[in-house]
Amino acid sequence: MLSVRSAAVRAQCPSCGTWSSRVQSSYRRTASDLPLSGRAASLAERVRRFHCDGAQRTRRIFAERHGEEILAPFARRTGRLEIVVHHLGLALGGGPGAGFARRLQVPVSNDTLIRVVRRRATAKAYAPPRAVGIDDFAFRRNCRYGTIVVDLENRGS
Ligand SMILES: [Zn+2]
Repeated sequence: MLSVRSAAVRAQCPSCGTWSSRVQSSYRRTASDLPLSGRAASLAERVRRFHCDGAQRTRRIFAERHGEEILAPFARRTGRLEIVVHHLGLALGGGPGAGFARRLQVPVSNDTLIRVVRRRATAKAYAPPRAVGIDDFAFRRNCRYGTIVVDLENRGS
């Protein structure tokens, strides 16, 4: 179990943008993380609740956020584990991906793999490409030919 907490003395209210350093309380949330030395690991994050002193007071208490690349709100996996799960799902699909994930000590079912791939595909709203490259290539020399279309500005990851 890896424990993390923010060293910042203040946090910004997501509703009104006011900075606050008045801590009301804190709680701990845990999420699955990348395996550590071949063993499944989890991350425990200490999240503080702050009083909002903003003029509008639409929200009197808010929880600090640490960035989606670490742990998104309500997520059960850390950002870096989510990326691994996503790529496993893309490369191998549900069943084989889950089998390989088990060997990597990544606790994920084939349903979850498919769900992560679908969610990330819809979350990333693709803008139409502005610059494309078109190229022909041979699968084997003098054999079958294919055409590839590449978005030159946004090659993805
Ligand atoms: Zn506020």
